[in-house]
Parts: sequence; structure tokens; C-alpha cells
Amino acid sequence: MHRAASLSEEVYDAIFARLMALKIPPGARITVDNLVRELAVSQTPIREALGRLEGEGLVIKTHLVGYSAAPQITRARFEELYDLRLLLEPEMAGRAAAAMTDEALSALTGAAGVNLRGAGADERARYPQFARQDAVFHDMILEVGGNELVRETLAHQHTHFHIFRLMFHALVTEEALDEHEALLAAFAARDVEAARVAMRVHLERSRERLSPAFDL
Ligand SMILES: [Zn+2]
Repeated sequence: MHRAASLSEEVYDAIFARLMALKIPPGARITVDNLVRELAVSQTPIREALGRLEGEGLVIKTHLVGYSAAPQITRARFEELYDLRLLLEPEMAGRAAAAMTDEALSALTGAAGVNLRGAGADERARYPQFARQDAVFHDMILEVGGNELVRETLAHQHTHFHIFRLMFHALVTEEALDEHEALLAAFAARDVEAARVAMRVHLERSRERLSPAFDL
């Protein structure tokens, strides 16, 4: 790792990927010295990255103890998150379809993550990327849907990062990409009802895919 301008970004990405792929499991202590050795960089970019991850709810800093990965969400919180998303996101997807412009559609197509499909067999590398893409894609739909309060409320939950840390599974990416394509098709057709249905189906399937994580 080198080049000061992008160094903190690279360090951030490296730690983010470890958290998403569960190489640093939920609740585990994160030692700055270990990361200094593993990433062969100084403490400064690591502390910067950990501060940013703390702001995203993925890392917790405890006075006199140091950093640890945020604990896994509980089953009750998981169900609440999906309830909240199902109440808000299908309606917002419908509004986004109604308000869709060619410009927004092309931005959404770029954000949907479909470009990650088949991009090498390295699921361990692709998974953290998809976690981030999924967050961007859903946030963008809320932006086009036009309700800033709904957008802020969901952004504040850091839903995607918590959900993707529940388990690591190739199917999570492949199936979600199919569902994102269904959403894009509804947006392209400016079909309000189809967009609502596609979002509802996507969230319900996502919930089904991930809920077995609590039975492990
Ligand atoms: Zn999604």
C-alpha cells in the first residue's frame, strides 16, 4: 500500500472488507497494532478508517478498551428492520417509478450492482463490494422517491452493513441481483405498481435468505 492520497481509502476498504466477509467477526476485538502489521501501514490511516467505520455503526470504540467490531444484530432487531423497510421501501419504489428520469434510471442501473455479476469467482472479494452497492442502490431509490426524512431514517440504521454481516453466502449476491434487475425493469417502464411489487418481493426474499443466520 502506498500513495498518501488514496492510502486512507485503501485502508478503509481493507478493514471494511474484513468486517463484511466476517474475517473480523461481530463482537471481535480490533487491535490497531495487528492491523499495522497486517496492512503494513502506520497507525494514522488505521485510526482514521476505524473512526469512519465507527460513524457507520460497524465499529465500536470503548473507553480504555479500544475498538471492536459491532455485535451482530439480534433476531428481534432484524425482524424490526425488515418490517420498517417493508413499510417504507415498496411505497418509495413506486414513487421513484413515477418520478423516474432517464438520468436517474441510468444512475440506478450503474448502482444496481449488476456489473458485479460473473466478475470472477472470488465471492470473498465480491461480497463486500455488493454490500456497499446494495446500500447505494436502495438509498438512490429513496432519493428519487423524494422523501428525505424516509431516506435519512433508513440511512441512520446502516441496515445493509448489518444485514450483510449476518452470513456470507454466494446466493445472497446472485439472487439479489436478479431482484435488482426486476426493479430496474419496472423503473424503465415507469410502472408504479410493478416497482412496488418488485421491491416487496426483493425485501421478503432477502429476509428469507438471511433469517437462517439466527439458527446457526
Ligand atoms: Zn437490494
